[in-house]
Amino acid sequence: MAHQTIQTIQNIQVELVQGDITQQPDVSVIVNAANAQLETGGGVAGAIHRAAGPALAKECKPMAPINPGEAVISSGHRLPNGHVIHCLGPVYGVDQPSDSLLADCYRNALLLADEYKLTSIAFPSISTGAFGYPIKAAAGIALDTIKKTIPHLKNIQKIRLVLFDQSDFETFKKRLEQLED
Ligand code: ADP
Repeated sequence: MAHQTIQTIQNIQVELVQGDITQQPDVSVIVNAANAQLETGGGVAGAIHRAAGPALAKECKPMAPINPGEAVISSGHRLPNGHVIHCLGPVYGVDQPSDSLLADCYRNALLLADEYKLTSIAFPSISTGAFGYPIKAAAGIALDTIKKTIPHLKNIQKIRLVLFDQSDFETFKKRLEQLED
């Protein structure tokens, strides 16, 4: 089994796993680290569009372009998840202020999923691939924002972060342990 760690914050399960965002069949919605045009691409967006099939890009086209920090929702098509939430992360050091735009992604995705009455959501690490966000800072923003948003959620019971690399998983794990303080 992949490395996994779980913590409960105000009755909501927050999980970290090492793995692939397209292989999370037990969550209602997965989050895409999207590009502004909501098209396929490299990294997470490429993997999600390949797994979902071409109907995903077709459905998303009328919603594009989106702005940094924004989140929009589509169906999951051939993915095992009913929905995909597409977030545009900030390009580090270019879209400013990068920290609050990255926080907007996590908060807007959680609130949108909750509004759709979805009960579980899985995120990749937004902006830390092609967009160049340093992983340690991004992990802090992701987990702090999740913690701050939890009191506003009515339907979500499980929030999972899926880290592709072992070292990214370890970085998130350390930050999650610090959240307990
Ligand atoms: P961005 O353009 O927002 O930086 P990327 O997709 O380039 O998004 O990368 C975001 C993070 O997702 C990176 O840390 C990368 O290692 C990771 N990643 C890449 N492919 C996958 C995948 N299939 N599942 C989960 N995480 C992935």
